[in-house]
Amino acid sequence: MKKSVYLIASLIVSTFTISSCSSWLGKVNIFPVEQDVALGKQVAQSFEQGSAAVVLDSTQNPTLYKYIYGVRDSILNTNLLVHKNDFPWRIRVIHNDTIQNAFCTPGGYIYVYTGLMRYLESEDQLAGVMGHEMAHAEKRHSTDAMTREFGANLLLELIFGTNKAQLLQIATGLAQLSFGRDAETEADNCSVDWLYQTSYNAAGAAGFFEKMQKEKNKVNIPEFLSTHPDPGNRVANMKKRWSEKGGKMGQTYTDRYKKMMAFLPKS
Ligand SMILES: [Zn+2]
Repeated sequence: MKKSVYLIASLIVSTFTISSCSSWLGKVNIFPVEQDVALGKQVAQSFEQGSAAVVLDSTQNPTLYKYIYGVRDSILNTNLLVHKNDFPWRIRVIHNDTIQNAFCTPGGYIYVYTGLMRYLESEDQLAGVMGHEMAHAEKRHSTDAMTREFGANLLLELIFGTNKAQLLQIATGLAQLSFGRDAETEADNCSVDWLYQTSYNAAGAAGFFEKMQKEKNKVNIPEFLSTHPDPGNRVANMKKRWSEKGGKMGQTYTDRYKKMMAFLPKS
């Protein structure tokens, strides 16, 4: 048992890859990719069953969902995501106008709060934030962090053993923690790189960061601003990356964003 476990661990550890928006190396993820999806599905289920999540029904809000899936598809259709076809990339909009947040579980279950959609001013900002959140899943930051935090041995016992409840507990706990500085920078970089291959303004997320910074006393600080590095540095980093790629001007799609707002549910 132990020998085969170590063999699997060493195989997986040695297959980390370097990608275009990778700003750091040395990932030590021991999880099979399918495990990200399985964990994400469980985290998504327990989140949606909790009282904090009022999920907008997709059949009752077809225009809204068509719009937000269109934004997602612009990102996926760049074909820059290694896990484009491995993950479901399912989106659920949470009806809560007081929370300006979005997040993505391992394996690509995306959640966007109506509070965030109301707060943003243009489609490139939404695309930038979604790109950032999707990058956490694509780069497998949660299972990578779990491997670092708990060590390969314990996790392999849990992954290939029978105690799945404990694994979910760890994953759910981690989903509520902040990502580290490197993970945030990598997600910012991915957001710029991916949007650069679309018609969007590639630094869309930076515009949002700036707005949040100016108004930080008025809003709930969301996942992507709650961690260091300093938001000011992050804006500068994203703009620098955009400029280094050639500084191509993109669209903000402000008009059609405003039109979409009419399809958000009444508060
Ligand atoms: Zn983040």
